[in-house]
Amino acid sequence: MLTRAASIEAIAGRRFEVVVIGGGITGAGVALDAASRGYSVALLERGDYAIGTSSRSSKMVHGGLRYLQNLDLGLVREALLERQLMVQLAPHLVYPTPFLIPSFGEQRRDRKVGAGLNMYDVMATTRVGRSRREMRSSKEQDEDFYWSPDRHRTIDREEVLEMVPALEQRDPNDAYLFYDCQTDDVRLVLTVLGEAERFGATMLNGAEVVEVLTRSGRAEGVAFVEAESGERFEVEAENVVNATGVFADAIRPEEVIEEEDVPRIKPSRGTHLLVDRADLSTGSAACIVPAGSGRQIFALPWYGRTLVGTTDNDYEGDTEHPHPSDDDVEYLLTAVNDFFGIELGRGDLVGAYAGVRPLLATGDPKKSVDISRKAELYETSSRMLTITGGKLTTWRRMAKMTVDRLVEREGREAPCHTAEIPLGMPARPEDLEAPEGVGEVSIAQLAFRYGHAARNVLRLAREDAKLAAPIAEGRPDLLAEVVIAARHEQARSVADVLLRRTRLGLVAAPQLRSAASVRPVAEALGGELGWSRRRVKQEAEAWPAAVAEAGVDPAASA
Ligand SMILES: Cc1cc2nc3c(=O)[nH]c(=O)nc-3n(C[C@H](O)[C@H](O)[C@H](O)COP(=O)(O)OP(=O)(O)OC[C@H]3O[C@@H](n4cnc5c(N)ncnc54)[C@H](O)[C@@H]3O)c2cc1C
Repeated sequence: MLTRAASIEAIAGRRFEVVVIGGGITGAGVALDAASRGYSVALLERGDYAIGTSSRSSKMVHGGLRYLQNLDLGLVREALLERQLMVQLAPHLVYPTPFLIPSFGEQRRDRKVGAGLNMYDVMATTRVGRSRREMRSSKEQDEDFYWSPDRHRTIDREEVLEMVPALEQRDPNDAYLFYDCQTDDVRLVLTVLGEAERFGATMLNGAEVVEVLTRSGRAEGVAFVEAESGERFEVEAENVVNATGVFADAIRPEEVIEEEDVPRIKPSRGTHLLVDRADLSTGSAACIVPAGSGRQIFALPWYGRTLVGTTDNDYEGDTEHPHPSDDDVEYLLTAVNDFFGIELGRGDLVGAYAGVRPLLATGDPKKSVDISRKAELYETSSRMLTITGGKLTTWRRMAKMTVDRLVEREGREAPCHTAEIPLGMPARPEDLEAPEGVGEVSIAQLAFRYGHAARNVLRLAREDAKLAAPIAEGRPDLLAEVVIAARHEQARSVADVLLRRTRLGLVAAPQLRSAASVRPVAEALGGELGWSRRRVKQEAEAWPAAVAEAGVDPAASA
């Protein structure tokens, strides 16, 4: 990515064919799709890339077994096809995980669940009409980077315990096993943005759009305020795309005539907890956990921790800084404690976060759990397009829907290519050479997070031994990543690095409570961004407030 200074220079006062507002997964997707069809594109993000819902998801690239219950079949099918495509386009970053639904004691396996899983298998099929032999041989050709989900099956007690050791206490009979995929949502956004830039898009964070500029009733650009200088700039654009997720109804050109031309968002909050694997080990698999009133949550392995989530409740609070509420934390802890027969308390949590879903109000009084995750595209009389709703998994379809509309109204010949554009370049851990002092876990994590570009991190670690050190003792993330974040990913603060470029603020919150503990991060950032010693100190001291604002360390108040 360009540096921020170069991006400001390239965007401010210029004219583009498309300006995208919002640097979450949807905006990133629109930027990639439009740029790869030949449009000149600028993307503006108010805070940091993925700072909104796109850093707060359950990190699953999935069809959503749950949505089958709501008979949202079109959405499930679409998401399952996208899941398959994402593993192919970003095999280093989107990986399959086995999910278990165990049964215990006298309880018999639920036939309805079996039927649902059958349907999930069928809906995931992408190779209709191809023989098993053909499928096997293409699988062998692509060997490491090919994935197609096996059908669900039943596994016996022994295999269940091997996969989810935390179930030992519960003495399971057997379990259904099916597959879905996981990722790091922020890295997915950054990777899509990186590809968009390769096609010529320019992006800037810390750029809040404060006005949609209109001329003769048409949206003709935007005005934004740049965070560091406080300066207001204008950008002219033939097309304005609003991809601000849960904030989408706040961006309006002046002359909105029909209210139905803009979305009405019905926010729903979801909370997640992170637990040390020594306290709750899901091993290599995820586990579906009943959570009362027919609701289900899950416990899944993520970055060496166990991620527990999520809740789904209508939300009326601050959408910019949603917190894990005490009730949500209690609800999730009770569900995992009851299910696994353990006694985790708030003080055991290594992290937590909450996000707000951009659900679309349909006018009927449905609860948020039952509202469809479908995306919708809106167009005002000013021609501004707004794309919102949807899921992390379906970003490519949302982007396609938006850019298809641009192409259609201009009468261009410009088909979508994003189903064929690789997202980053994969690398296997064994392809990466570890410098002195960098262990296997770090190498595997770097390969996952950056793919081939992990070599840039390792080069820095080789050149300067200080950068080969971990950011937090015992965690695999390296100080060299802070330098990469500032140099190539427009990171501007300790929070940008610890909450998003790495996820240490979520998975090691108690270790990173003090300003002193993050001083090396501030120093590495300061070295790149030209900060004075005083500024380095101030930035480190700002971290505890950022933690409090995001609510990522509930154990601190236990
Ligand atoms: C708890 C939870 C769990 C979820 N789990 C999953 C899951 O496992 N799998 C899945 O597929 N989906 C999941 N989702 C859904 C998914 O995360 C969202 O659909 C997706 O991230 C929305 O992305 P977005 O880009 O539309 O919005 P956002 O990520 O919120 O991006 C909008 C961006 O616009 C910016 N912005 C706002 N106003 C302005 C302005 N004036 N100027 C410039 N920028 C502005 C914001 O700062 C923000 O970065 C989950 C959602 C939640 C809440």
